Amino acid sequence: MKDSICKDFEKTVEEYLIRHQSILDLLSKAQETNARLNRAITKAVTQCGCIEVNAKKPQFPENSSLATMKSVLSSHLSGHLCEHCREMVEQELGKNLFYLTGLCNALGLSLEDVLEKENKKVKTLRMFNMT
Ligand SMILES: [Zn+2]
Repeated sequence: MKDSICKDFEKTVEEYLIRHQSILDLLSKAQETNARLNRAITKAVTQCGCIEVNAKKPQFPENSSLATMKSVLSSHLSGHLCEHCREMVEQELGKNLFYLTGLCNALGLSLEDVLEKENKKVKTLRMFNMT
């Protein structure tokens, strides 16, 4: 049977993660790659300009339902990532996933199990998940 992409990725990370085996290296690399991901998104706004951030506090009508509240919420983003920025964000996201998967492996956790549990939890919470 063919592995899922998650299982396949877990194995690939396991095979190639030789230099950063220590949990300390994995933790700091996961944090570093997360910072680089944030930086790539920030640069798409401040240096390229393909996306813009227009943020303000959401105004909820009184006694609004959860559905109404959700419709009022916004990503505060406009525009779309250009080809270059998309590539940079995807690259940094991939590196971040690599080290997150390395953390899973080091701790004896399965990325696929983590995803399945979170997927199930979010599906159960549905509208109540406002995070
Ligand atoms: Zn761009």
